Amino acid sequence: MPRSTNEPQKQSLIGQALVEDEVITEAQLGRALRVQALLEQPKQLGEVLIDLGYVGKQAISDTVAKHGRSMRIGDMLLEQGIITETDLVSALELHKEQDIRVGEALIRLGILNEHTLLFNLAHQSGMNFIEPELAMIEPGILSGVSPDYLERFVFVPFSRNEDGVTTVVVPEIENASRRDAIEELYHGNYTLALGPPDSIKQTIEEFRNFRVEEQGARSRDAEGGEDSVIQLVNHLITRAIEARASDLHIEPMSDRIRVRFRIDGVLVYKTDLPIHLLPRIASRIKIMAECNIAEHQRHQGGRIQFTQDHREYDLRLSVYITVHGECLVMRILSKQAGLVGLDELGMNPSMLERFRSDVLDQPAGVVLITGPTGSGKTTTLYSSLDYCNDVATKITTAEDPVEYMIDGIIQCSIHDKAGRTFELTLREIVRQDPDIIVLGEIRDHTSAGVAIQAALTGHKVYSTFHTEDTIGGLLRLIDMDIETFLISSTVISVLAQRLLRRICTECVAPYMPTPRELHRLGLDIATVREYEFKKGHGCKHCNYTGFFGRVGAYELLILNDAIKEAILAKRPAHVIRQISMDTTGLVSMREDAIAKVVRGETVFDEVLRHTPSSFSLRPLRQILSMTQ
Ligand SMILES: [Zn+2]
Repeated sequence: MPRSTNEPQKQSLIGQALVEDEVITEAQLGRALRVQALLEQPKQLGEVLIDLGYVGKQAISDTVAKHGRSMRIGDMLLEQGIITETDLVSALELHKEQDIRVGEALIRLGILNEHTLLFNLAHQSGMNFIEPELAMIEPGILSGVSPDYLERFVFVPFSRNEDGVTTVVVPEIENASRRDAIEELYHGNYTLALGPPDSIKQTIEEFRNFRVEEQGARSRDAEGGEDSVIQLVNHLITRAIEARASDLHIEPMSDRIRVRFRIDGVLVYKTDLPIHLLPRIASRIKIMAECNIAEHQRHQGGRIQFTQDHREYDLRLSVYITVHGECLVMRILSKQAGLVGLDELGMNPSMLERFRSDVLDQPAGVVLITGPTGSGKTTTLYSSLDYCNDVATKITTAEDPVEYMIDGIIQCSIHDKAGRTFELTLREIVRQDPDIIVLGEIRDHTSAGVAIQAALTGHKVYSTFHTEDTIGGLLRLIDMDIETFLISSTVISVLAQRLLRRICTECVAPYMPTPRELHRLGLDIATVREYEFKKGHGCKHCNYTGFFGRVGAYELLILNDAIKEAILAKRPAHVIRQISMDTTGLVSMREDAIAKVVRGETVFDEVLRHTPSSFSLRPLRQILSMTQ
């Protein structure tokens, strides 16, 4: 949140140190602080100063190294808005009481995890954050270095640029004896990056084991070269797959490559890499995707078939030309992505029962599944079809494109270029004598018309929609100029959904929601006090996000006579909403999500972020009894 400019400017310790060292002027600092306060996305002061061109990365790093001890970590995190005053006070108390570092106190209190602490520290001081692993390191860099030496001083050389400058990963900014040890190896020809102590130690251990294995055998290519980049790229892809990432982002910044994974719908910061590796990484990936490697001026796309642990993955590559070089994004699709059973979707037991009996088991009518892109509606659609799939039922689909193949279902991918357009496919599909018709998406009046006509002639029709909630789905049909009497006589149900991140079971701990969170949801402390809430604090298992996997939040509207009448009478949305709550026992997506928070599956933040507030909330007790 941008701070109010009327507030007195907070003092910046790093800023002051830079002024003291005469790296920047008082006026430049003032300007940078004002710019920082106005940013929508919080940014570290160091980055703002670099963006404004007042200072280089090296100068910040030097200043932090010089003043590191006088700058307290708590103040630095506070300055960046990563922790609050209250957090700092508790951490300082623990720090005094148990004589531990403030950073460690913040970690113990569950306010921060080590990963977050380190990468913020690194970026604040203008250093890269690198989570090293042996497979990412150029072999040539390690030749002639003894594991004992690395182990004694706890650091690991990572890569070397064309000017011979070595990037060295260290676990903390200031340590004189380590500095001397590094100096002895590289004589001033190095830059420091910060990394997690555990990963550094583990890398050294792997290096030692590797050396033992290699003894007597052919030594690794001392020059490193292309082999090491192949290994590095494979390693990044492997790690992304292991982390269940849907996308791997390799992004050039002005001074580093940033690697991020999209996991459970959210970007997760993984590591930095030295910027000098970019051309080789980009070439390697472009070779894998059979792109034109000589082309550096145009955006390109490609595909990579990747096999890991006997599973095949289809990687869709996009190469985007940016001011800092080629930005590479790979979407990771698993060819064996399995079907999810109906009871694994996360519907509460009473809703699941109604969905089966009043929706899936009904022989005819239109069933709509709605939600934004990435809300999991395709998964729900396929689970539903799998449930209906038996030898006595003919299921025929028109999809754009087919995402999962299910044995026994007649599936068709729309292909405009081949002349298999949506319109022509819809015309043909009804002649296939189906019992169930699946239209990937209702796009317009024509496809809506086909769905309605098919339902009128006794078919069951499933389709998806992009609308906010269930009532929005009905209104969209009205907007598409479908007669209200046709809607009310054919549509049997609308299911709206979102995916919420599930709390990681490895780092889950009790948690009390803040009054602000509760207020935003219209709940008060008194009502929630009797329940115990949970939150994940971040661990290696969940990539320090506190979440692992996702659970659906659903809103199931089953049309009854009262709703059908309201549609016929073209009543406004809020009236239809009220009727559906009062007469159909509809539990809104937000209510369903809140019940999942109370049951320890997810957190309020996810509810606020993903579910619409279109319905008024019932009392918490009632919500819980309705979602049993
Ligand atoms: Zn965890």
